[in-house]
Amino acid sequence: MGDCIFCKIIKGEIPCIKVYEDDSMLAFADINPISKGHTLIIPKRHVENMWEATEGELVTIMKTAKKLIHAIKDALNPQGVAVLQLNGRAVNQIVMHYHLHLIPRSEGEPELKQTAWELIPGDMDKIKETAEKIASAIR
Ligand code: AMP
Ligand code: ZN
Repeated sequence: MGDCIFCKIIKGEIPCIKVYEDDSMLAFADINPISKGHTLIIPKRHVENMWEATEGELVTIMKTAKKLIHAIKDALNPQGVAVLQLNGRAVNQIVMHYHLHLIPRSEGEPELKQTAWELIPGDMDKIKETAEKIASAIR
């Protein structure tokens, strides 16, 4: 895609701090890191998000995530790593080329706002109604 910043990184037209690369995947450091070691994994084929990615691509992304999460553990020894991926503008997907965030964190470091939501009990009837609607739409 002509104006996609991550496609430009893949083509080497703009630089990145590369962590891992193979035939179909690239991993590089996020330049606005939420924490030390914040890394992005992207498929080399331009797909916007999970709706567009093939099942095969998603499997390969997860295999790459496993490889990298081990490397992050060995290199940085965080107590946890958030694996986060946004689909669509409404959930603040800014770069419209699929990317999986790996965000390490240890106790004592700033809380990850993305993983620290408040638990507020919902209306069980509405929860059930919505879950059934989703379940009946599964193909
Ligand atoms: P989002 O689409 O909300 O999941 O976020 C896009 C992520 O891409 C942000 O965390 C940005 O910091 C990161 N990002 C944007 N441009 C670059 C770049 N040129 N190199 C590395 N990371 C980037
Ligand atoms: Zn792209």
